Amino acid sequence: MDNAERSVNCSAPDFLAAWWRGDAGPVPCGECSACCYYAGIPADKKRDRRHLPYLLTERDRDGELVLQQRADGACAHLGEHGCTVYEHRPAVCRNFDCRAFAAMGLVEHCGPNQRTPDWEFAAREGGGSWFGPAARTLGEVPLVLGAPAGQDR
Ligand code: SF4
Ligand code: SF4
Repeated sequence: MDNAERSVNCSAPDFLAAWWRGDAGPVPCGECSACCYYAGIPADKKRDRRHLPYLLTERDRDGELVLQQRADGACAHLGEHGCTVYEHRPAVCRNFDCRAFAAMGLVEHCGPNQRTPDWEFAAREGGGSWFGPAARTLGEVPLVLGAPAGQDR
């Protein structure tokens, strides 16, 4: 994936506002699979009930249902060309949007050797600092793994 594809065509605050509305659109992941290296990716009994028969799951030490991991830390369903259960991936995988972290100035480390891409955002229209509006947005946006309004990707 080249740099152009790592760009977001709006400013970080505008992106966060769209993400919060569930309107940010799909993440152009390209060849990236960093977030498939998170430990303990949850499968939800209710939200994922139709997909559970297709997913390799186990209980973590707290008894939560999570996707099985390979020895290298990747999800058991990560194949050479991406997710092998794409149509049946859990809701948390559908909703995850690393651009939200980048818009907040964060890079997520999903595994020892895996980090989310450095997304670049457009400058704010009219210039000026985005720290004011961003700070207000950040105050409203909990740092959760998935997007709040059921984005699908
Ligand atoms: S870390 Fe971001 S770009 Fe990479 S696969 Fe996950 S959502 Fe896509
Ligand atoms: S189910 Fe698919 S998208 Fe979700 S973590 Fe596993 S390989 Fe990645």
